[in-house]
Parts: sequence; structure tokens; C-alpha cells
Amino acid sequence: MFTNILGYPRIGGHRELKKACESYWAGESTLRDLQLTAKEIRRHNWLLQQQAGIDLIPCNDFSFYDQVLDMCLTVSAIPERFHPLVEQQQFPETDLLFAMARGYQKDGYDITAMEMTKWFDTNYHYIVPEFYANQQFNLLSDKIVNECREAIQAGIQPKPVILGPVSFLLCGKEKEEGFHRIDLLKNLLPVYKKLMQQLDELNIRTIQFDEPYLSLNLTDAERKGVVYTYNELSKVTPRISILLASYFECYGENLTTVLGLPVQTIHLDLVRCSSQLDDILATDFAKSDKKLSLGVIDGRNIWKNDFENSLKLIQKAVAAIGTDRIMIAPSCSLLHVPCDLSFETALPAEIKNWLSFAKQKVEEVVALKQLATNAAGAAALLDENKQAIASRRTSPLIHKTHVKERVAAITDADAHRNSVFASRRQQQQALLKLPLFPTTTIGSFPQTADIRQLRAQLKKGSITLEAYNTAIKASTETCVRMQEELNIDVLVHGEFERNDMVEYFGEQLEGYVFTKNGWVQSYGSRCVKPPVIFGDVERKAPMTVEWTSYAQSLTNRPMKGMLTGPVTILQWSFVRDDQPRETTTMQIALAIRDEVSDLEKAGIKVIQIDEPAIREGLPLRKENWAAYLQWAVKAFKVSSCSVEDSTQIHTHMCYSEFNDIIDSIAAMDADVITIETSRSQMELLDAFADFKYPNEIGPGVYDIHSPRVPTVQEMEQLLQKAADVIPVEHLWVNPDCGLKTRKWPETKQALQNMVEAAAKARAKA
Ligand code: GLN
Ligand code: ZN
Repeated sequence: MFTNILGYPRIGGHRELKKACESYWAGESTLRDLQLTAKEIRRHNWLLQQQAGIDLIPCNDFSFYDQVLDMCLTVSAIPERFHPLVEQQQFPETDLLFAMARGYQKDGYDITAMEMTKWFDTNYHYIVPEFYANQQFNLLSDKIVNECREAIQAGIQPKPVILGPVSFLLCGKEKEEGFHRIDLLKNLLPVYKKLMQQLDELNIRTIQFDEPYLSLNLTDAERKGVVYTYNELSKVTPRISILLASYFECYGENLTTVLGLPVQTIHLDLVRCSSQLDDILATDFAKSDKKLSLGVIDGRNIWKNDFENSLKLIQKAVAAIGTDRIMIAPSCSLLHVPCDLSFETALPAEIKNWLSFAKQKVEEVVALKQLATNAAGAAALLDENKQAIASRRTSPLIHKTHVKERVAAITDADAHRNSVFASRRQQQQALLKLPLFPTTTIGSFPQTADIRQLRAQLKKGSITLEAYNTAIKASTETCVRMQEELNIDVLVHGEFERNDMVEYFGEQLEGYVFTKNGWVQSYGSRCVKPPVIFGDVERKAPMTVEWTSYAQSLTNRPMKGMLTGPVTILQWSFVRDDQPRETTTMQIALAIRDEVSDLEKAGIKVIQIDEPAIREGLPLRKENWAAYLQWAVKAFKVSSCSVEDSTQIHTHMCYSEFNDIIDSIAAMDADVITIETSRSQMELLDAFADFKYPNEIGPGVYDIHSPRVPTVQEMEQLLQKAADVIPVEHLWVNPDCGLKTRKWPETKQALQNMVEAAAKARAKA
């Protein structure tokens, strides 16, 4: 029996890589400093796994930015706009990599960055490869070989982790018409083969090819591509055994194909899909000599593994194929969990005992092998584990009968407004008296350095809560006055009191804990620290009423109450694995529902419930979409439907495509939805137009991700485009998203232009 790790976090236990990258980008350190930090992280990770007793230790799981981008450099998939950099003598590869990821505005160049998108259903973002018809590839970067060599020098027998050719292509985008990127396999495979030969020369004996697309619905052509690829790669050398890894879902209808591939080991994500073990054992798999890597430990979440449960799966496999053909592994790369639980010194001991981060998961993998092979002394590990699991199953910190009962008692009526939209609309009109093309913003206003500093000071205790509140109040008042001066119709308070749209609510809800150092890479040097939902969620007291009422007291215009929706709160947290996601979401929905009611009671007439994460919560396999959408929509409605008809409910979504989920968006039945559209020149609006979306809609008229101030004219044109497809009496005017990351001068100017554009559109209508 072997132990296998698919990948280890590369940011460093204290985000050393982030700090080193950012200091290098700022010109405060040299490339050599950065490389040394990287080398130290790799060495640390390898030795940690070796000392723990891992047999298959990954290398090339390190990256300065992203593993898909690394693959672009490895096979020379470098978009033409970067060629002037490549051609420069002595332009370092690492600088090229950063240029591709972040754009390059220097020395007279102005080259735009490559696109970034979410890695399957995680919160990790990868750089999207760009492909052209009949594109040629060649082996450019030595990164993989170099890292293997470095590992060998450190006394490790490494297993390089390489994004497989099929998934590499499918992760990308065609940048011209007339071909499908999977057609490029023929050109790409020679590069992979050459790479395998080089690794063979280094005495590498196992390569892990990651093909996460095998967990998705593939076309026949794509599936044929998989067969072709691994037939070809298996011919390169008999000395290298191929470990094929997919994760995040079942192999599903791809399983037969996968089992027929000439690869030596197949990795299974048994956390997401434990039934596929039975499916495989029901075939004549036992007669083959293939190994199975059993991903029994959750690589996506931070809970301690339930050993008894994992051992059942392992023993089932052992009974069928024997010990020698089995590897114990986490379900996927540990990239998605924080590095080390032992750094958490402030967590309540009882809760900490339920958790496990990357380092602890490595230890769990080894412990499971010891238990499964009856190693001496292993029994104590099982006892200890059983105790932790039992404590979590029954702890009153987690389980609250009244919360569970309330979720069970949710009725259909709780998830419906009193009247249909048309009649609500009349009542809202009568109350709010808004003009055509009403203007608003998405919520946050610039979070300047002094606001963030205030919060840091409050945390440190160097200012009192009173002083903090006074300062936040002053910012809120300035913000309200400014919006009045700009003549915006529906105001916001600015969200100055919030650090983050999920954390702010998490901190006030029961059932949440926060780590001090639980960082996970989001993209490049950016890390996030997702809060942990460990128990039944409930709201103990109003969370936003005071700030919103204060802001409303400053003005006669309607002040929007700003809340984060239940699906987004769930999606951006580490969630419980001891109950369905749906149940946790409904608990959060009830907490938000109470907040909505309290805001309404306090006289707030417009309430926005942000759900930017609805789309990213979609399951990877289409057959699971309907069930998810049903509860996601219901959760939104449970949170928003307690109000009177005259109270206007808004929602906001960004960076989503709506085409294939538009009926669910409509089913949410928000009175107004604001969406991101400006980057796509209103194209995203087509889904709403084609569907004849019945409620009101605010397509963002400018991109808040850039400091650029949009002109009146261009926003007017966008509004015209919107008015061409959506009835004007349904249109709102607003930016794409919150203004948190912007600076004040550009914000004021942009909003002034926006209000002017709205006035012009109004005059024309
Ligand atoms: N209300 C939030 C804000 O303005 C919305 C953020 C988001 O959509 N991601 O910051
Ligand atoms: Zn947004």
C-alpha cells in the first residue's frame, strides 16, 4: 500500500510566496530573492511529506502564479502580443510569466494580461490559455525538469504533477473561429512526449497527469481525444508509470473510457463520489494490474477525516484487489486548504480538534495506511480519531434543535412574495416615486487606507469602539452627502464598516469561526481566508440595522439596506460536511430573512441581497444543476420574501453568464437585479431580453475594476443598447459592481458622468 499526495499548498505557511512576489513586483527585491523563497518553500514541503512518510511526493505542484499558466510556458503557448518580450535578450522566464498573468506596462509596452477564470468549482482562479487554429507547440520552459532535479537533490524521489494535454486544451479558449481546441492535440502531444523522455532520463518513475475534465460531461470528440492521448503517451517509455487523476466529481459516463486507458494508476475522488469505487469493483478491474489511488481525505475542506468511514472504503478495495495495488490519498490537491492547523492558537480547543489543514491531512493519509495495514501502535490513532468525530457529531456547540426545527418548518409560502411583480411594482412606484432610468450604486464606496487602518487599530485595541464608530459615521455621512450632490436616486451607506461581504456577516452569526492564518490561494499572490461554518447558523441580533438606519436618517432619499445572500455566504466559506449544503444554506437564509424583516421594520424601503456566487455554485455535471438551482433559488426567496409588496428587493450578480440559468434567475423574483455587463458591451443582457425577463434590471454601465473614468457618451450608448432590448421602464442605471477598490476622485467623476448619462437617456425616452 502506498501513500500519495496530489499537490501541496505553495503559498508557504505564512504566505511567504505572496510577500516575496509582491515585494519583487514593487521592485523592492531581486528575482534571485524571489527564487530563493520559492526554493525554500518547495524544500520545506517535500521534506515535510517525506518525514511524514509519504511515498508519492508531488513536484511541479509549485507555481509562481498558476499551474495552467506554467503549462502555457512549458509548451510555448504564448500569445503573440507577448512575443516582443520573448524576443528580448535575457528577458527572464519568470518575468514573462508575470507579464502574461498581470499584463505589462513598461518600457513603452502596453500588453494586456491573459484572462483568468475559476478552476472548476473552486475559488482558485487560473489563467486561460489562448489557442489558434493549427497552433504549433514546442518544449520551452524547463520548469518541470528543473523542479524534479531540485527534488532529487533534496533527497526526494519526486512524482511530477502535470496538467494533462486534454484538460490543458479544454481549460483554454479559441481565439479565432473555425476550429476546436481539442483539434490541437496532434500538435501538442509531441511536446508532452519529449518532456516524458527528459523525465525518464532523470529516472522519474511516476508521472501524475491531472485530467480534471474527466469529471465533466465530455463530447465524443473530447473523449476520443483522451483515448488518443493516453495511447500515445503510454508508448513513450515502459519505465514511467502514469497516474491519471481527476477530481471534484465522479468520472460518470467517462468511467468506461478511463478504465480502458493504458495507464497504471487511476485516482478517484471518493469524497465527492464514493459510489464510483463500487462501480469500478463491479467490473473486471481486479483482473487488470492497475492500481487505484483512493482519494478518501477531503482536499477541499478543513474537517478531520472520519477514519472509520475511510477504512471501510479502503478495506472494500483491499478485499477486491489486494493491498499492493492501493494508494491512500486526499481527494485532490491540497492547494485548496490552508497549510497548517498548528498555527491556529486562538481557536476554541473543542473546535480545533475537529479540523485538519494540509499538514494534518498528510499525516492522516499516513495514519490511514498504518491502520489499513495493521501497523504496530496504529490502534491508538483510531481511538483518538473516533473521539474527535463523536464529539463533533454531538457537540451542543454545533447542534441547536430550535435552528433545525425552524429549517424543517419552512413552508412554500415563506418562499413567495404576497403578490406578483406587476402589482408589487405599482405599490413600490407609489412609494418610491423614482424617475425613469433610476440611478443607484452596488453598495461599497472606496475603502481607503485610512478606513482599513481604523479597523486594524480597533482590532489591536489602539482605538476604542466609540472612536471607530465615530470615524465610520463620518465617512458614511460624507458618502451620503456626496450621493445627494451627485443626484443619485437610490442611495447606499457605503459599507465602510465592513471588511468583507461574507466575513462581516459571519462574524455576527452563530455557528461561524475565523482562523488567524487559514489562507488559501485565490489567484497569483492573492489569498483568501474563508470563514468556517462549523455549526447550526443563527442570528443573535440585528446585524446591519443600526448602520443602515443611521444612513437613512441623513437623507430623504431611499437608502438601500445591503445584505449578502445565503448562497454567497455559503459558497465563500468552508462549510460543514455533516449535513447537506442545502440545509446550511437554509439556516443562513433564515438569518438573512430576519435581518430583512428588521430592516423593513426600521423603515428601510429598498433592500439589496447580493448573490454574486449563485452561478459559481453550479455543480460540475449538468445532471446535478436542477437540484442545486432549486434550493439556491429557494434560499434566496426564503431570505427575501418576508416583506410587504411595497418593499423593493434588489439582488446583484457579477461575472456570470446567465444564458443557461436565466429561468432560475427569474424565479428568484427580485424586484430589481443589477448585473455586470459593461465589459461585454451589454452582451450579457441578451439572455434577459431573449427570456423576456419580467422584472426590473440594472445592467452595469461601467467597469469598476479599472480606474478609468467612463465618458457620458459611452455610458449613454450602453444605455441605448440596453433600451433596444429591455423595456425602458424596467431599466436602472448603475456601475458593474461595488466601488470598494476604487479611489475617490475617479469614483466621483465616473458617477457624475453616469448620472448625466441617465438624465440624457431619460430626456430621450
Ligand atoms: N455590495 C457589495 C459591494 O458593493 C457587492 C460586492 C460584489 O458583488 N462582489 O461591495
Ligand atoms: Zn459585484
